[in-house]
Amino acid sequence: MPSLIIVGTVALDNIRTPFGEVRMALGGSAFYAGLSASYWTDVGIMGVVGTDYPEEGFRLLGAHGVDYRGIERSTEKTFSWTGEYTFDLNTAHTLKTDLNCLLSFNPDLPRVYDRCDTLFLANIDPDIQFRVLDTLPVRPSLVVCDTMNFWIENKLTELKRVLSRIDILTINEGEARMLSGQYSLVHAAREIARMGPKTLIVKRGEYGVLVFGKDSIFASPAYPLEEVKDPTGAGDSFAGGLIGYMTSQRKQSDEVLRQGIVIGSAMASFCVSDFSTRGLEGLTKKEIGNRLASFSSLTSYPGLPLLDAGTKG
Ligand code: AMP
Repeated sequence: MPSLIIVGTVALDNIRTPFGEVRMALGGSAFYAGLSASYWTDVGIMGVVGTDYPEEGFRLLGAHGVDYRGIERSTEKTFSWTGEYTFDLNTAHTLKTDLNCLLSFNPDLPRVYDRCDTLFLANIDPDIQFRVLDTLPVRPSLVVCDTMNFWIENKLTELKRVLSRIDILTINEGEARMLSGQYSLVHAAREIARMGPKTLIVKRGEYGVLVFGKDSIFASPAYPLEEVKDPTGAGDSFAGGLIGYMTSQRKQSDEVLRQGIVIGSAMASFCVSDFSTRGLEGLTKKEIGNRLASFSSLTSYPGLPLLDAGTKG
């Protein structure tokens, strides 16, 4: 039985960035998050695909040890997202969202997995997220949720119902403002905490992430890559790395969360280095270890004077 279950979209994406274009490319929130998490824990995916979905998607998940028994096959077409990035790679412009087989997707999680340590409700219809939470016989010890502007605009009430029952929300900067109605991210975090999640993780694209806990704020940069080709999936691979790592640890703590944030950021940096999921595929321990070492030196401040000397006055 996988320790981490991810429920989300398994998609065929059409993406254009200033560096190229792909059509019907493997993607989806659960797909990216599952591949990324597979480097850290045993993971199972719940989702749905249609008749047009290529076997290549299943082959890739299998090669990464991801359990895909929870992916249903529908007689309709696969969920498809068409998006574009201009030179501001931090902002995805949705051109088209074809829900297709997602419209009739009604996952029966307990039928496939009767328990898990961690549940990641990746970006998908909040009605589906809620149903999954509601049908679990035992609440997992960690429940994390992600969402986006599409659902905030179309299903706010349903989304708030989900937020009242989760531990951690990951969301991007613009969406945190949209959800809270606050411009200041500190105010937004306070407002969103009132909706339920104990921890809010705000994704800020190339500027990294901000983590708001009950009494603390933590920041992590994004890795300054020489070449970013396609930012699609950055948020999902970030979440997959973070949650995969947290699941692999026996006890949760602020330290584990912080380590997970850096691991998630490293996984996202692999993702954006190529189109679709190519940058996330077949990574070695050495490659990931080297990226983590670079991260460590990026944010270490040895000998910072006032830390142990006290101020002059
Ligand atoms: P991100 O990590 O935010 O870049 O997520 C990218 C993935 O989200 C793409 O592979 C899309 O297929 C998927 N996606 C786009 N729109 C939606 C949506 N409304 N609900 C769920 N997944 C979506």
